[in-house]
Amino acid sequence: MAYRDDTDTIVAISTPVGVGGFCIVRLSGPRAIDIADEIFSFKGKNKKSLKDVPTYTVHYGYIKEDNTIIDEALVSVYRAPKSYTREDVVEISAHGGFLPTRKILELCIRKGARLAAPGEFTKRAFLNGRIDITQAEAVSDIIYAKSEKGLLLAAAQLAGGLSEEVGSIKNSVLDLMSLIEASLNFPEEDDVRPIEPSYIGSELEKIKSQVEQFVKLAQQGKIYREGLYTAIIGKPNVGKSTIMNRLLKKERVIVTPIPGTTRDIIEDSITINGVTVVLFDTAGITETVNNEIELIGIERSKKLLKECDLVIFVIDGSQELTKEDIEIAKIVKDKNLIVVINKKDLPAKVNVDDVVKTLFPAGVEDIVVLSALNGDGIDVLENCIFKKAFVEDIAVENCKFLPNLRHYDIFLRILSHVNAAIEMVKGKVGFEIIAIELRKVLELLAEVTGENFTEDILDRIFSQFCIGK
Ligand code: GDP
Repeated sequence: MAYRDDTDTIVAISTPVGVGGFCIVRLSGPRAIDIADEIFSFKGKNKKSLKDVPTYTVHYGYIKEDNTIIDEALVSVYRAPKSYTREDVVEISAHGGFLPTRKILELCIRKGARLAAPGEFTKRAFLNGRIDITQAEAVSDIIYAKSEKGLLLAAAQLAGGLSEEVGSIKNSVLDLMSLIEASLNFPEEDDVRPIEPSYIGSELEKIKSQVEQFVKLAQQGKIYREGLYTAIIGKPNVGKSTIMNRLLKKERVIVTPIPGTTRDIIEDSITINGVTVVLFDTAGITETVNNEIELIGIERSKKLLKECDLVIFVIDGSQELTKEDIEIAKIVKDKNLIVVINKKDLPAKVNVDDVVKTLFPAGVEDIVVLSALNGDGIDVLENCIFKKAFVEDIAVENCKFLPNLRHYDIFLRILSHVNAAIEMVKGKVGFEIIAIELRKVLELLAEVTGENFTEDILDRIFSQFCIGK
């Protein structure tokens, strides 16, 4: 099979390359122990061989090229199948440093190992059935985790959290399928009671709400994985850059009293209670053209607005509201939004009521009044941002996984088939057609955990790994 290439032995440097305290060169495959044995000699005069040592043992000695010592090393031996990849694995821990590490790697290659592709160790763990695909993805998430919570969730997923949840949905669908199929295949049999469409409908609704929860969790997962993308927007000179600097606790953006000086998007991140918040200070999205206030919608700002998870809309509280504020409010009203009334150190011309009445007649949940200049109220804004980092209605604390974009995409497709099935039940469509939709749901669920995988999916997942994992 094309994606099973485990007859060879792979090798890679598994620690970051550079000068460090120590480094690990990892071998996996049928010749891992032989190759390590050829380049390693035990300290002292004994003529022991790595080939004879038991599994899960560590040995002290030297890595040698011919008879020259390259480095002192500890060699750990893990025999198949109880290893990371389920193959024979040897880890050589030597002193850090670019040259000795390279040299050990080269020696292994010279003795017959092949340089591992990114993620190939984990891919072998998957192909050999030690972990499923969601667990393999969790390994990558653990490496790249941007927040503590993200790390915890990835670790829970590595322990099988996502597969368990997917399994529970799968069981519900299978139960429903077997009822439907029994009534289709043996309609005349006495012990097969005809099922009520209303029963199928209500079971499908239950499945739907479970899948919807997954979709929401995937949105939350994105925030834990990549951070909360937050755009600070508002007309020129309301204090966007000053707020950004306050949140960053440094002079990142040059502040001037001349309107429109932030010409491009500036990006930087902070961490609030373990959640990474990626802040974008946008160019003013409105501009005065020919003395008329016109929305020019600078393309990048608009794109950013579409993609961000949170918008902080800044208003200058020391000035009357303007047409520009009204235009921006229209654009952001349906976003996950915090309105900031800035410059509270100056005499107020705008208060919370004015903002609601003029800009958000349908209401707005979070309005923070602050002074970016002296910092008064910035802590309230920080708490508000943290609160907004959580997609509503989800008890993330009880969650045992961190869905990624691939899962998100599949869950959305599952949702559309479940919805289609619900509509069919309502439209009194035949059970056999509903069964087709449910079969598609099952196929997609299998895609989440990797029971149904193609080489293309594997490549996409593992190409995101680093070499050595
Ligand atoms: P931006 O164009 O929206 O990014 O606005 P800036 O952050 O560049 O600020 C514009 C001007 O308003 C600068 O002179 C800031 O010092 C001033 N400014 C910003 N925040 C405050 C505030 O809270 N109080 C006062 N009095 N001035 C502020």
